[in-house]
Amino acid sequence: MAELINAFQMAQAQFDGVAKALNLDPQVAEVMRWPSREFKFQIPVRMDDGSLRLFFGYRVQHCDVRGPAKGGIRFHPSETLDTVRALAMWMTWKCAVADIPLGGGKGGVPVDPATLSVSEKEKLCRGWVGQMWRNIGPRQDVPAPDVGTTPQMMGWMMDEYSKLVGHYTPGVITGKPVGGGGSLGRTEATGFGVIYTVREAMKHLQMDPTKSLAAVQGFGNVSQYAAIGFTELLGGKVMCVSYWDRADRMPYTVSHPNGVNPRFLMSITDQYGTIDKTKAREAGYQIEEAEAWIAKDVDVLIPAALEGQVNAETVKKVSDRVRIVAEGANGPTTPEADAVFKSRGIFVIPDFLCNAGGVTVSYFEGVQNDMNYYWTRDEVLERLDTKMTQAFRSVLEMSEAEKVYMRDAAYMVAIKRVFTAMELRGWI
Ligand code: NAD
Repeated sequence: MAELINAFQMAQAQFDGVAKALNLDPQVAEVMRWPSREFKFQIPVRMDDGSLRLFFGYRVQHCDVRGPAKGGIRFHPSETLDTVRALAMWMTWKCAVADIPLGGGKGGVPVDPATLSVSEKEKLCRGWVGQMWRNIGPRQDVPAPDVGTTPQMMGWMMDEYSKLVGHYTPGVITGKPVGGGGSLGRTEATGFGVIYTVREAMKHLQMDPTKSLAAVQGFGNVSQYAAIGFTELLGGKVMCVSYWDRADRMPYTVSHPNGVNPRFLMSITDQYGTIDKTKAREAGYQIEEAEAWIAKDVDVLIPAALEGQVNAETVKKVSDRVRIVAEGANGPTTPEADAVFKSRGIFVIPDFLCNAGGVTVSYFEGVQNDMNYYWTRDEVLERLDTKMTQAFRSVLEMSEAEKVYMRDAAYMVAIKRVFTAMELRGWI
C-alpha cells in the first residue's frame, strides 16, 4: 500500500522534485523546505454560556526573505500544524511567482466558526491577535481572511492590533472591508486574475477568445468572476457553471445551450451560493448532474471550486476539444489527472500562478494602507492585469527555455526568486 503523506510532506516532496531539477545546493534546499518560524498558542475564550473554552491558534512563517510573510488565517475543524505549514510554504511560492515583495505565511484555529456566536468569534479573533501581535505587523507578517474567516473578522483583528500597539495600523492585515481600509477590486481580483492568465495562454496558443467556450466548476467568489471575466473581458462563452445545492445537499451543473449569463445566475444565487433551480429552468437553463461540467465540449476548463476535483476518474471525461485548464481553485488537479493532462499536451495554468490575483490585490491593499491614499477600482484592476501578465510570461518563458511543464516552470521561477533573495541578503 502506498504510504499516506500529509499536506506538508506533499508540499516538501513537490519542492524536493524542483530543487533537484534546478540543481539547488542540498544544504540550501534544506533551509527552504522548513518554516522559518512557527507559533502555537492557547486562546481561552469566555463563552456566552459563562464557560471558559480553550482554543489553540497557529501561525507559521515559512519564509520572509522577499518581504513580510503573507497568508490567510483559517478557522476550520480539521486544521493542524501540518496543514498550516503546507499552506504557508505554498504562499511563499505564490508570492514569488506573482513577484510581489512578500513571503509566505499561514495561520489557523481548529474550530467550526458556524458553532460560535458573533461575540465568541470576536473574542477568538481578538485573542488570536493578543497572542501574536508581537510577531505580526506591516513589516513582519500580514494575515488575511481564508476558509472560515471574513472581512469583518479582519476588521476586529486590525482593531485589536491597533489598540495593542497604540496607533491605527490598517496595514497589519488585508481583506478588510471597503471603507474600513480594504481595497476596491478585491472581490473580483482572483476570478479576473484567472481570466488574465487565460487570455495570455490563448495568445500563446493562437486561439481566438471570442470563438472560445469554457466550463466552470463552482459558482462562488473565484468562479463567479472568472465566468464574468470570460464572457465580458474576453468575449467568449461560458457553457456551464456548477454549485453546491444546500437544500439537496449535492452539487449540480447549470448549463445553457447558448452559454450562461453569469450576472443573471448571480441574481438568482442566495447568500450561501445556492442557485434557484426553478428560476434557472424558467429562463431556459438545464440542471445536470454534478460532473457534467468536466465533460463539456469546450476549449477551456476552469476548476474553481475545491481541491481534488479533477482526479483519475473525472479526467477520463475531459473532451478532446479542451486545450487549456485554468486552475482557479487551490490544488483542483490530483497528480494522476495532472499526468493525463501532461501526456495529452493540455496547457495547464497552475493554481499558484492562475489564482494569484487575490494575494496580488491584498498586496495592493497594504500599499494603499501605507500611502493612506486609495486607488479607484479601474486603477487596481489595471495594475493587477499588468502583474498577472508579467507573472504568466515569466513562467511561460521558463517553460519554453527549460522544456518543462507549466507547473514545474512556475515552481522553478518561484524557487529561483527566493534563492536569489537569500543570496542577495547573505543568508546562504
Ligand atoms: P467559495 O466558497 O466562494 O466558492 C466555492 C464554490 O464551490 C461555491 O459556489 C460552491 O457552491 C461550490 N462547490 C462546493 N462544492 C462543490 C462541488 N462538489 N461541486 C461543484 N461546486 C461545488 O470559495 P472561493 O473563494 O471561490 O474559493 C474557491 C477555490 O479557490 C478554493 O480552492 C480557494 O482556496 C481558492 N482560492 C480562492 C481565492 C479567493 O480570493 N477567494 C484566492 C486563491 C485561491
